[in-house]
Amino acid sequence: MSTLRFKMVEEAFSKKPSNVELPAERPSEYYAMYVFNREKMFKYLSAEVYAKLINVIDTGSALDRSIADEVAAGKKKWAVEMGVTHYTHWFAPLTEGTAEKHDSFIEHDGKGGVIEEFSGKLLVQQEPDASSFPNGGIRNTFEARGYSAWDPSSPAFIVDDTLCIPTIFIAYTGESLDYKAPLLKALRAVDKAAVDVCHYFNPDVRKVFANLGWEQEYFLVDEGLYAARPDLLLTGRTLMGHDSAKNQQLEDHYFGAIPTRVAAFMKDLEIEALKLGIPVKTRHNEVAPNQFELAPIFEECNLANDHNMLIMSLMRKIARNHGFRVLLHEKPFKGVNGSGKHNNWSLGTDTGLALMSPGKDFTSNLRFVTFVVNTLMAVYKHNGLLKASIMSASSAHRLGANEAPPAIISSFLGKQLSAVLRHIEESEPESFQSLGGKTGMKLDIPQIPEILVDNTDRNRTSPFAFTGNRFEFRAAGAESNCASAMIVLNTAMAEQLKEFKSVVDERIAAGEETFSAILGVIREYIRICKPIHFDGNGYSDEWKEEAKRRGLDCETSVPLIYDNYLSEESVRMFEKTGVMTRKELEARNEVKWETYTKKIQIEARVLGDLALNHIVPVATKYQSTLIDNVYKMHEIFPKEKADKLTVRNLELIEAIATHTALIKEHVDNMIEARKVANRISDEREKAIAYHDTVFPWLDEIRSHIDELELIVDDQMWTLPKYRELLFIR
Ligand code: ADP
Ligand code: MG
Repeated sequence: MSTLRFKMVEEAFSKKPSNVELPAERPSEYYAMYVFNREKMFKYLSAEVYAKLINVIDTGSALDRSIADEVAAGKKKWAVEMGVTHYTHWFAPLTEGTAEKHDSFIEHDGKGGVIEEFSGKLLVQQEPDASSFPNGGIRNTFEARGYSAWDPSSPAFIVDDTLCIPTIFIAYTGESLDYKAPLLKALRAVDKAAVDVCHYFNPDVRKVFANLGWEQEYFLVDEGLYAARPDLLLTGRTLMGHDSAKNQQLEDHYFGAIPTRVAAFMKDLEIEALKLGIPVKTRHNEVAPNQFELAPIFEECNLANDHNMLIMSLMRKIARNHGFRVLLHEKPFKGVNGSGKHNNWSLGTDTGLALMSPGKDFTSNLRFVTFVVNTLMAVYKHNGLLKASIMSASSAHRLGANEAPPAIISSFLGKQLSAVLRHIEESEPESFQSLGGKTGMKLDIPQIPEILVDNTDRNRTSPFAFTGNRFEFRAAGAESNCASAMIVLNTAMAEQLKEFKSVVDERIAAGEETFSAILGVIREYIRICKPIHFDGNGYSDEWKEEAKRRGLDCETSVPLIYDNYLSEESVRMFEKTGVMTRKELEARNEVKWETYTKKIQIEARVLGDLALNHIVPVATKYQSTLIDNVYKMHEIFPKEKADKLTVRNLELIEAIATHTALIKEHVDNMIEARKVANRISDEREKAIAYHDTVFPWLDEIRSHIDELELIVDDQMWTLPKYRELLFIR
């Protein structure tokens, strides 16, 4: 091991866990202490304003601007008492992170001093100088105005000395430039459509919430080792590195004891998360070495999503206090599992109904089947689009590898639910006929066993699995903003429920009894959306063939997958539900293609540099010592004996020569491919060129580097190896 590398590794392995001071109080006491939640609203606002604000939050009704001043003043009073000096509008532009620009509360007081001020105007709307955020051409720099606008449904919170106000980010002309604005529209659309359908069963339902429970996977690496890997530092993943002799074969990491240094980090993270009102609940080791998972109790989708964005930045910050770097890239290491972010999704009502849970009587079971089957229809119709919603340059490494769902969206239902649907499909239409009055009970809907809820019938290979009381969308990437998937899923569901209602209403208008009409339509749907239902092994090659026959989207090229956003069905869906316009979709796709290109471009540059200035020189140096050895052996031994004794070294010399020559050649080819691609001005075409002609060189070059890693003297190899990066002591 090179001296430098040895020092880094030694330091990493001898680090002691930092001491995490537990708060004196119990979690229930410090939970949400940094959040302007209802308790604080009640304390810092007048009764009248409190009532108005709660009404906006609970019903989604329009905000009465006249309350903004008092809300701002109340927030400021609370924040200043908490030692806060600054405020920021906190939003999620199309970069996959969050953005903030801090301003302090101070204003001139007219007497030569300053006072702390925060007006309703500043709370409600701001115009960040944000012309450099991606916008896909919606805002050209001449009218680079973008507005951030307050989202009252997600409470303000304090990070360090700053009051953060969750906001949407939109263009001067009204188009969304972020994830939150379309997410809120999608949630409103599904609310409205689902309430209408609920009224067939429960007329008192006023609001339907989408719930999201995310499970965040991540890797930790020692900070010192991370810093010595320029590829990790610049691209978030290792662009080279031979498999460690031991990685995850023994599966001894999964659910294993958590290393003490990591446990200290987790404890710290959880305390801070709880103070921010993020109800974190579950932590465990994941499958790959150094891989972990964190999950909260599910929450309303918009809030849950803000909490996920917040926890990702919290993780990054707290990891550094413990001498770690957190890797959220979907595939930081080749040959071991990547990281995803399961999105557990369900719908629930203001009256306390869980719409994805079976019930005890006929009505609730029919309602359950209605929502499940409509979900399947939505996923079936828009399976390509759903895939597009979770696709990125980084998540493409994870999907389709032998660990995560394939790049084909299908749904796992399990034995029991499959049996229920089959029963409904096969029952005779006659048995649906109402026999009058409450005899709707005679409608043939099977008993749904309650064990469905503690369903252990799991299939980890399915990208969209029913798990008892929710669907689990598992294809989302660890680094992604869940909103991307949630926008598509909730919009597709909204469109589907609307269509369902209109078909059922037609049948009712034609004289059919309500439940019979519902069951009739459901029965038809079960048949139509059958191709999306797949309970088998999603990793298998047979499935890829089968999925193609079923007409599911099997495209694997990321830039082409993005085309799904602009298909006629997608544009119609987004426009009909009022979630996004064609113009917005087009602009966002420009951003997606451009981001894809840039990511591959950066990886290609980093790998090219490292190959030529780290790998080839070291390999050549080692090769020279071998050559030297061969010459000297010939000096001290008779030729015949020396020939025999140096056979192996000659082989190595040749192998090194071959690999280094190919590396240089491939790097040249990659640079040439980049030059050609860079001349293309159309973003889509450029991304396709990067995918087809630049990206393949990355693996090609890497394979030679990884071979060299096995040959070259370990003392000379400067980059930390997988066995060091992946095993925290
Ligand atoms: P598993 O690893 O078995 O999938 P976890 O307990 O790690 O389960 O995570 C499950 C996630 O699903 C949690 O965030 C949990 O709160 C969430 N969840 C549970 N029930 C629902 C539901 N009805 N709707 C949405 N999310 C749910
Ligand atoms: Mg899960």
